[in-house]
Amino acid sequence: MSDSSQHQTESLARYWTLCDDGRVQCDLCFRHCKLKDGQRGVCFVRQAHNQQLILTTYGRSTGFCVDPIEKKPLSHFYPGSAVLSFGTAGCNLKCKFCQNWDISTANDIELRSVKASPETIARTAAKLKCRSVAFTYNDPIVFIEYAIDVARACHERGIKTVAVTSGEINPEPRREFFGHIDAANVDLKAFTERFYTKLCGGNLKSVLDTLIYLKRETSVWLELTTLLIPGENDTEEEIEAMTKWVVAELGAEVPMHFTAFHPDWKMLDIPPTPPHTLTLAREIALRNGVRYVYTGNVHDPSGAATFCHKCGAVLIGRDWHRVTDWNLTPDSRCRQCGAECAGCFDSTPGDWNGHCQPVRLDDFV
Ligand code: SF4
Repeated sequence: MSDSSQHQTESLARYWTLCDDGRVQCDLCFRHCKLKDGQRGVCFVRQAHNQQLILTTYGRSTGFCVDPIEKKPLSHFYPGSAVLSFGTAGCNLKCKFCQNWDISTANDIELRSVKASPETIARTAAKLKCRSVAFTYNDPIVFIEYAIDVARACHERGIKTVAVTSGEINPEPRREFFGHIDAANVDLKAFTERFYTKLCGGNLKSVLDTLIYLKRETSVWLELTTLLIPGENDTEEEIEAMTKWVVAELGAEVPMHFTAFHPDWKMLDIPPTPPHTLTLAREIALRNGVRYVYTGNVHDPSGAATFCHKCGAVLIGRDWHRVTDWNLTPDSRCRQCGAECAGCFDSTPGDWNGHCQPVRLDDFV
């Protein structure tokens, strides 16, 4: 039987319990949706069916691109390498500023998705010489069963796995999921519960728990991203508190990315983030001891470069997402002073051109 004819597009989900009243409770995230037969959770893609829970998007993706790893963003995980990026439909958060709202809120999964078995994805990544595969565009937490099967297929071929996630996942599935992940960029969307409640329908506490878990109990390479939204999460006080917490709880070597907001989805009335806000956030983070701080969604060569935390030399220069300068030794040290740079590096940078290239998986079946 061919790989495509074996293809699965629906799967029995894990992490649920059957309630006394016959409803199925999903235990994957903080929402604990209780679902009658046929009903879908807030994320739309986990559905009660015959007193079980199914994942309706198993084996279906909304699209594939080969990206530079810097676009995730990850600046300390095989810089310059290509990553095969994909997502599915649905999300457990409802961020009013979502930049992928067309897929994260997609209800017409059948029309918008292409079939993609874990094996086909891993094989495609290998043929395209991608160092890693990224679960991105929407949160992989809601398609955890599919993501884990893809991760297994990738690891069998020596391909790394990357999760771009909000971190809103309960402790038990968190342990299983991140056991299959090599690097994560977690959104630390703000540092107030008010923001998470008002703009995302989420909660800060479970994100902070996930960050502490990742840092203290796993070997997953971790970077953080904060989209700075004017008037919502961009005060100096909030950035002070956030960056002090990061250094105290996660350590100075966790890179932070401050990225610019552009009006989108339900927040079209908010102006774009001024570049000086990003620069100020970067200065505050550096002053508080974060060693590697980046600005994103703007053209800012010094905010895109990696500097040695000890002597200040440029270790990795970048122009947008393209590596332009490389001053690390083969064992990841500063050529100038010998200080170690935290992260996962090959002895030379990858040679991906910094562009995003859409991929048709049918060409690789
Ligand atoms: S993953 Fe989806 S169905 Fe499960 S609790 Fe979260 S929102 Fe509800």
